[in-house]
Amino acid sequence: MSTWPLVDAKDDGIRPVGKPDECFYCNQKIGAPHGRDCVVVTKLVEMRVIAELPDGTVHRGLWQFREPFAWDAEMSEFHKNDSSWCAGNLLNQRDAGSVIWEGSAPWDALAALGEDRCLCDVLRFEFVRVVDPTPRRKLKNAETVQKSELASQSWTDAETWIRQNVIKLPAK
Ligand SMILES: [Zn+2]
Ligand SMILES: [Zn+2]
Repeated sequence: MSTWPLVDAKDDGIRPVGKPDECFYCNQKIGAPHGRDCVVVTKLVEMRVIAELPDGTVHRGLWQFREPFAWDAEMSEFHKNDSSWCAGNLLNQRDAGSVIWEGSAPWDALAALGEDRCLCDVLRFEFVRVVDPTPRRKLKNAETVQKSELASQSWTDAETWIRQNVIKLPAK
């Protein structure tokens, strides 16, 4: 794949805890392509968000965000619904505008609920589609950060989760 990203000197995959000249996640050196399953390489996906509020109302929305390129639909749904990732993280997407709700947005109700409880039993996520399959990785201090990338909180959460868990990527 000619568009597959190389490890850049400013690559977000180069971490202080790792070696200064290689990706912390796939151990490829600067100038070499990131590994095929490297979690630094992401694609843009869309998931349906289903919010079932205690008052019985159900809200549906579509959320676009970047996630590891190697994840398939099953892995995406597992990460959001059944891993230690907390659904309350979705509240971080409010200002980013990355979720489009059908009808009125339930953000106020979700934020109020989230004050004293976790939202994992309120929110459910279903994989919808890959919006843009172009593999990308972030560079540190990139001067031109697109708006969609400002909504990368979910990715940071995913990365934290990956670091805390031994991740088993789906077999190819
Ligand atoms: Zn890598
Ligand atoms: Zn939770």
